[in-house]
Amino acid sequence: MKATLLCFPTSHASYFRFKEHYYQPLWTLVGGGLKKLSDSRRTMASVIPPNSEWINDSVVGFNPDKNFVTLKDGSKVHYEYLVLALGLQLNFHLVKGLIEGLKSDPRICSNYSIRTVGKTFPALQAFEGGNAIFTVPATPIKCGGAPQKIMYLAEEYFNKTGKRDKANVLFNTSLGVMFVVKHYSEKLYVIAKDRGIHVNFKHSLIEVRPETGEAIFKKLDSESGETATFKYDFLHVTPPMSAPDVISKSVLSDAAGFLNVNKETLQHVKYDNIFGVGDCTNIPTSKTAAAAAGQCGVLSKNLMAKMKGSNDFKSKYNGYTSCPLVTSSSKCILAEFDFTNTPTETFPFDQSKERRSMFLLKSYGLPPMYWLMMTKGLWHGPGAFRKIFNFWRN
Ligand SMILES: Cc1cc2nc3c(=O)[nH]c(=O)nc-3n(C[C@H](O)[C@H](O)[C@H](O)COP(=O)(O)OP(=O)(O)OC[C@H]3O[C@@H](n4cnc5c(N)ncnc54)[C@H](O)[C@@H]3O)c2cc1C
Repeated sequence: MKATLLCFPTSHASYFRFKEHYYQPLWTLVGGGLKKLSDSRRTMASVIPPNSEWINDSVVGFNPDKNFVTLKDGSKVHYEYLVLALGLQLNFHLVKGLIEGLKSDPRICSNYSIRTVGKTFPALQAFEGGNAIFTVPATPIKCGGAPQKIMYLAEEYFNKTGKRDKANVLFNTSLGVMFVVKHYSEKLYVIAKDRGIHVNFKHSLIEVRPETGEAIFKKLDSESGETATFKYDFLHVTPPMSAPDVISKSVLSDAAGFLNVNKETLQHVKYDNIFGVGDCTNIPTSKTAAAAAGQCGVLSKNLMAKMKGSNDFKSKYNGYTSCPLVTSSSKCILAEFDFTNTPTETFPFDQSKERRSMFLLKSYGLPPMYWLMMTKGLWHGPGAFRKIFNFWRN
C-alpha cells in the first residue's frame, strides 16, 4: 500500500529548534555533567523517514469534520488519516517569577527544556552550600522519574567535590510517593533517606523570588491553602506540563485537554481516521519515549488495518512504559510497568535493585537504539526479549 506521510515536527517547540532533533532522555545525563548536549542532537532531516514530505511549520488548528489541519502560515493540509504525536507543552509561566528567574538567576535550572538544560551542570559547579531543591509539579509530566534522577546525580557530585557537608538536599514533590509504582517507590525512598535527602511530599512550587533566593510551595494536603517558603542556593525545576494548546483547545481533546484516544487501539474515540501516540494523548500510562515506542508498534498495525478498511484491530497496547531511574553516575534502577502499575521487567533479575549494567544500558545502549531503530520505526519495545529472559526467570 502506498501512502504519503506528512511530518510536522517544527522548530517552535522548546525542545526542537531550527533543523535539529533531540533525544530528550539524555538530558538527565547532560544536566549531571556526564554527556554533552550535542550528544543528544541530530539533524531533523536525518530522522525524517525517506519517501515522506517534511513540512517545517506548526499546526495551529484541526478540522476533523473536513479532514484538514491549518498551519501557522495559514495554509491547509488535507489528509485521509492523521496521526498526532505533539508531545507535551512546558508551562513555565504557571510558576510565578520562574521565566524571569530562569533567565536571570544562575542558581535556577531545568533539564526539561533545550533552553535551560545547559544551566544545570554550571549551577551544580557554582553551588557552594545551602539548600539544593528539586521539584515535581502537580500535573502529568514526561518521564516521572527525571526530577529525582538529577537529584541523585547532584547529591553524588556534591559528595565527590567535597561540598556534601554544606549541602541540604531537598526533594519537594507534589506527589505523595516517590514513584507511581510501589515496587520501585519504596526502594527510592530508602535510597533518598540513606543519602540524607529530605523528602517533602505534597509540596507544589508556585513561585520563585530570585531577588531573595526564595521558592514558595503550596502544601497540597493543607485545607486552608497553606504555603511554605524555602531559601534556595540551587533550584532544579520540573515545570507544570499539559497537552499543547492546539489540542486542548480543539474538539479532539478530553476534559483534561489531552488527545482523546482509545487506550488500547490508539484510535480517536470520535474520529476513526485519527490516531494518537505519545505524551499528548490521554493514554493512562507514564509518559516516556519507551511508552511511545510500544505504542508505535500497535499504532502501525492498527493504522494499516484501518487503511485496508477494517475497524477490527487485533493489536492492543497494554500500557508498557519504562523509566531508567538513574541513582548515580554508575547505577540505575530500570523500572518497567503497565497500565495496572504492575512491574513487567525484561531481565531475569530484580530490576528494583541499583545496578551498573542498567546504567550502562541507559547511557550507552538506549541512545543508539533510539537513533538506529526507534526513529526508523524498528523498535517497539522489549517484549520479545522479555519472553526469552522470562524463560530463566520462571
Ligand atoms: C529530562 C528528560 C528525561 C527523560 N528521560 C526519559 C527516559 O529516561 N526514558 C524515556 O523513555 N523517556 C524519557 N523522557 C521522556 C521522553 O523524552 C518523551 O516521553 C518522549 O520524547 C515523548 O515523545 P512524543 O513523540 O510524544 O513527544 P516529543 O518527543 O516531545 O515530540 C513532539 C513533537 O511534536 C512537535 N510539535 C509540537 N507541537 C506542534 C505543532 N503545533 N505543530 C507541529 N509540530 C508540533 C514538536 O516540535 C516535536 O517534534 C525524558 C524527557 C526529559 C525532558
